[in-house]
Amino acid sequence: MLKKQILECALNKIKLRRQSAENLAYSFFEKAMLDEQFKNNFKDIKQAEIDNAKAQVYGEEPKYDLKQLKAKQNEILKKLKISPKAIIPHYSCNKCHDTGYVNGEMCSCLKHEINLILFEKSGLSESNISFKKCDFSIFDDPQKIKNIYDKLKKWCEKQNVYQNVILIGKTGTGKTYAMQCMANNLLASESLVYFTSAFELNENLLKYHTTFDETKSDYISLLIDPDYLFIDDLGTEPILKNVTREGLYNIISERMRKGKKTVISSNLSPDQIKDVYGERIFSRLFCQNTALVIHVENSDLRLKK
Ligand SMILES: [Zn+2]
Repeated sequence: MLKKQILECALNKIKLRRQSAENLAYSFFEKAMLDEQFKNNFKDIKQAEIDNAKAQVYGEEPKYDLKQLKAKQNEILKKLKISPKAIIPHYSCNKCHDTGYVNGEMCSCLKHEINLILFEKSGLSESNISFKKCDFSIFDDPQKIKNIYDKLKKWCEKQNVYQNVILIGKTGTGKTYAMQCMANNLLASESLVYFTSAFELNENLLKYHTTFDETKSDYISLLIDPDYLFIDDLGTEPILKNVTREGLYNIISERMRKGKKTVISSNLSPDQIKDVYGERIFSRLFCQNTALVIHVENSDLRLKK
């Protein structure tokens, strides 16, 4: 399960929305209930709803005309100068009525709240970096870099089937920037997105390796659960014996097994990745059928000096 505190925090935000929508509606309802005519009509509506529901269970025709009773309610409300809409809670999310779940599944509004928390955690901002705001003219070969960004954008829009994206290229080629564009693009979708550096990932793997209480799974849940995981700068982290390679392999395998997508950037060449991380990780990452490998290491893709 996703890190508990993050889920709770996101759910709390949504619950607050529900409460304030319901409180507001209830304040108007209470005011209306002071009116004897409204109160009696309301009782009639409730009773009619129960009787009609019973009738339905026994396969009988509904006994009361609810429409008529509701029309009367609206009339009374107008007389009281209360809008009929005011006594109904207006939820921010029509899909889940601000509960965060639809049929036991996370609602898109809950995923969005979680993403916002995750983004804050990864130091990304929602608005600053996006495909729309890219200025390709700062590159030596604008068309070439634009083609790369177009490919990445298409991937984010699920226009190809690759499960993983590997961005290979030296420092200064804008890999991190491209990944942030992708992450921000996905933030608007109904997916959970987590952005981390290889260094931070390694630290979490180490904590996972050395923790033996109930918090153990917290250290890798964020690496396994999100629909999209971005790992920036693979190869800059220290390789810890029994931790880095094993942990990375398990995370990549688990994510691939679950059909989750991973985007990795690295300053290392594919051959260097094979040397550092071993054949197992290399073959998982660079599998032709599942990986979109993009090289951004040509000097003409570097930022103009
Ligand atoms: Zn919702």
